[in-house]
Amino acid sequence: MEKKITDIFGTLVFDEEIMEERLAKDTFNELQKTIKEGKSLNLKIANAVANAMKDWAIEHGATHYTHWFQPMTGVTAEKHDSFINTNRNGKVIMEFSGKELIKGEPDASSFPNGGLRATFEARGYTAWDPTSYAFIKNNVLCIPTAFCSYSGHALDKKTPLLRSMQAINKQALRILRVFGNEDVKSVKTTVGPEQEYFLVDKKYYEKRKDLIYTGRTLFGAPSPKGQEMEDHYFGTIKSRVQEFMNELNEELWKLGILAKTEHNEVAPAQHELAPIFSTTNMATDHNQLTMELIQRIAKKHGLVALLHEKPFDGINGSGKHNNWSLSTDTGVNLLEPGETPYENAQFLLFLCAVIKAADEHQDLLRLSVATAGNDHRLGANEAPPAIISVFLGEELTQILSAIEEDKTYDFKEKEVMKIGAHVLPKFPKDTTDRNRTSPFAFTGNKFEFRMPGSSSSVANCNIILNTVIADELKLFADILEEASDLTSALNRLIKETIKNHKRIIFNGNGYDDSWVEEAKARGLFNLRTTPDALPYFVKDENIELFQRHKVFDKEEVISRYEILMEEYVKTLNIEALTMLNMVRKEILPAVSQYSYTLAKTCATKDKVIQTENIYEKEVLKDISKLLDEAYKATLSLEDILNQVQDITDYEKAAFYYRDKVIPAMMALRTPCDQLEKRTAEKSWPFPTYGKLLFGIL
Ligand code: ADP
Ligand code: MG
Repeated sequence: MEKKITDIFGTLVFDEEIMEERLAKDTFNELQKTIKEGKSLNLKIANAVANAMKDWAIEHGATHYTHWFQPMTGVTAEKHDSFINTNRNGKVIMEFSGKELIKGEPDASSFPNGGLRATFEARGYTAWDPTSYAFIKNNVLCIPTAFCSYSGHALDKKTPLLRSMQAINKQALRILRVFGNEDVKSVKTTVGPEQEYFLVDKKYYEKRKDLIYTGRTLFGAPSPKGQEMEDHYFGTIKSRVQEFMNELNEELWKLGILAKTEHNEVAPAQHELAPIFSTTNMATDHNQLTMELIQRIAKKHGLVALLHEKPFDGINGSGKHNNWSLSTDTGVNLLEPGETPYENAQFLLFLCAVIKAADEHQDLLRLSVATAGNDHRLGANEAPPAIISVFLGEELTQILSAIEEDKTYDFKEKEVMKIGAHVLPKFPKDTTDRNRTSPFAFTGNKFEFRMPGSSSSVANCNIILNTVIADELKLFADILEEASDLTSALNRLIKETIKNHKRIIFNGNGYDDSWVEEAKARGLFNLRTTPDALPYFVKDENIELFQRHKVFDKEEVISRYEILMEEYVKTLNIEALTMLNMVRKEILPAVSQYSYTLAKTCATKDKVIQTENIYEKEVLKDISKLLDEAYKATLSLEDILNQVQDITDYEKAAFYYRDKVIPAMMALRTPCDQLEKRTAEKSWPFPTYGKLLFGIL
């Protein structure tokens, strides 16, 4: 196996090794400058690169190329063009120019843009992101690109992500210079996103309109067994699932994606895949590809992968843990406590920047993970609450409070903890990583942001993480660059930060109800739902923050806010309509038919043996009552949905859906789930939770 992985790893990626092998030395060097230092690329170099890329791609079976990008829909987009062209004599040749590599012009009018692109200017353009490698997928050469409008506004998730990486690079370098570090040329954020998902048997999936249209079950009584035995977590993987995982791993490896661990999760039928981390933009591209491949390969094995945050009521949902750190081009992880007092001071400063950013920008961190799907998870005793807090572990917290209060910390020296004078202990992972209930946990040498939902792009949360931390680093750099005595300025800064922002540090159980109370007393935000959180996006101070670091301009923030609100409303609308469809077309007719069977049996038995028919009568009574309840709830949901047509403002609509539509949906689900429990299995119109959760044999 070992040999095989190295044989196939990255074979479908036009990576550095291939570039070096296939490009002339000066072309390669120029391209490296573009990749590593963000220098712009001239057309001559681009032509040479395009040509080498095309030859390589054709040798690997590609016939088409595409600019692969990440519009605001959450999925990736691609439009395939063939390499085929004709030369002057009309002969067919395979061609791919530098211009085609650098820039594409897809018709952008059907992608969400939040009013950024007037329809008369429907075209957007895509631009190559040379910091993420081109790759081959389904015989198509895919070129990772950013997607913008002609006025230069970002229409995608990659553009602001790259901008946010530039912002943090700039500020982190300033800090490193203050510490006298001159050899680091760039600082990049790194991310390792752990991906959770469910697998269900395709034959059951196909019978559930809710799964097909919305990705989650809108009805379903609990199965006799749920996740209470906790026998699925890290349990043996079923052979069919194992075959799927083997193929998935192989395909991911070919694409240079370092899928490393895979295991069963707590919930039945739930699994997790963790890659080895890489730079954030690559990790984001890779995570998008991973989600796509999970879905595609599952189908080949007669399975369907559910990436929704909450496919099953009463069963843990799926998240995406965003492991985040900062790394220099010289290979130093800036969130790793160092070997020397000097390195430790630097570590503490970066740590403080993260703590301060989390406290001051709770709103932005929260809204970076806000979707209708994720609202089911956050705060539902299975995922971190909707309250942002930071877990540091006991040891690090004690060190910070020793610094804050000029107290001794239990070093060998038994001295007052001084920044720049003491070596910090290494924090072994198992002492810091036990708390799984924290939304944002320091795990020894990185922060793990555990709030993102399983289906969203990690670009969303990393744009925010990078920007808010860049802003704190900027403030720190502004102070330290001007300081006459660096050590005392540093001491003051760190102490002050701990003192002013320690309220965000919480090492206790985040699932506990008492935390909600305590967090309130500490003055922390608890933005429970998406409509609560999103309006903070467009607050003046936040728009200014994004502008300050050139991540978004005002129009971009507003357009994204509108897109997100609209997405929330549309998601709920589809869910409500799907429920109505399933109730009217499947549940009510099926149960009505079943009650007819009961009634007929009852009458016939009565004629033949004149018994009491307690069983049939009781069930019939029960069912008839619930049937009427379900029907009334149907009418009421229909009525509520009709009223929403008059609301044109998306923000108002979002609150209406949250406050009126969601409760009406729940009121409809309740009698239907009761009906499911009372109806004969054969008469129930679609597969139950038991089949979906335990049906992969
Ligand atoms: P655990 O499983 O205990 O959470 P791991 O070390 O297995 O911890 O890492 C989990 C994820 O964090 C992996 O995807 C890994 O690649 C990622 N990771 C590790 N170090 C870093 C880092 N410096 N930056 C970003 N992600 C990281
Ligand atoms: Mg996990």
